[in-house]
Amino acid sequence: RSIVRLEHVAKTFSNGTVALADLNLDVAEGEFLSLLGPSGCGKSTALRIIAGLGEPTSGAVAWPKAMYDASGKPEAEIGFVFQEPTLMPWATVFHNVWLPLRLKGVSKAAARTRVAEALEMVGLEKFSAAYPRELSGGMKMRVSIARALVTRPRLLLMDEPFAALDEITRQKLNDDLLKLYKQFGFTVLFVTHSVFESVHLSSRIVVMAARPGRVIDDIAIEAPYPRD
Ligand code: ADP
Ligand code: ADP
Repeated sequence: RSIVRLEHVAKTFSNGTVALADLNLDVAEGEFLSLLGPSGCGKSTALRIIAGLGEPTSGAVAWPKAMYDASGKPEAEIGFVFQEPTLMPWATVFHNVWLPLRLKGVSKAAARTRVAEALEMVGLEKFSAAYPRELSGGMKMRVSIARALVTRPRLLLMDEPFAALDEITRQKLNDDLLKLYKQFGFTVLFVTHSVFESVHLSSRIVVMAARPGRVIDDIAIEAPYPRD
């Protein structure tokens, strides 16, 4: 069962760059799918199109099972984690994670409980009152993950989320992300140019090549699931 499908998606930017040509990608519910390819092959462009942050030049994005909101967007199904944590510097950790719930209209009391849960998921329950500038890069990334998960999305889009972190922090976050994935059963679409990361994390790897961006391989990984 697919959660989202890119159908013959092409993207040419206004400066003439052909980022994607005829990309077909079917993300199945519950899988951890890595989109692996060299820098510039169009991975971010594909992810942004799925997130509704960019329009394809041609082709379509299909959400076979989604409920739609009034504006015709799939409703609250997506969480997005970028490489840069993009936290609001003037707001505490608590308020950074709280905001998406309040924007969705969740009551203050319910939001408070859910923020506490989300911070516990990423091991930051003691840092609720801290400001982003007081946190390490890895901790900021954890806040960003909590913010993406607090709305309980069915699909988590991650664009090279740990690329800017040191090796040890990156491995720790990889392991913690796997635990969360196994515990909560959301679908992950994970963009990376690291073969190691994709093999370590994924249940499936889609390999892309550049100029123009297209799929050259699609690999199901039997191990490591179930891993423990
Ligand atoms: P669109 O074709 O979707 O309208 P644009 O070509 O207008 O997109 O570019 C959107 C933004 O991305 C602009 O602010 C532009 O400066 C910036 N941009 C341009 N070239 C690149 C690039 N190679 N990589 C990333 N961003 C770029
Ligand atoms: P990846 O995520 O695989 O590194 P991107 O999707 O960021 O690749 O970029 C694919 C191609 O499109 C690259 O050549 C990049 O420079 C170009 N590109 C990305 N965004 C823009 C933009 N807004 N305007 C023009 N070119 C862009």
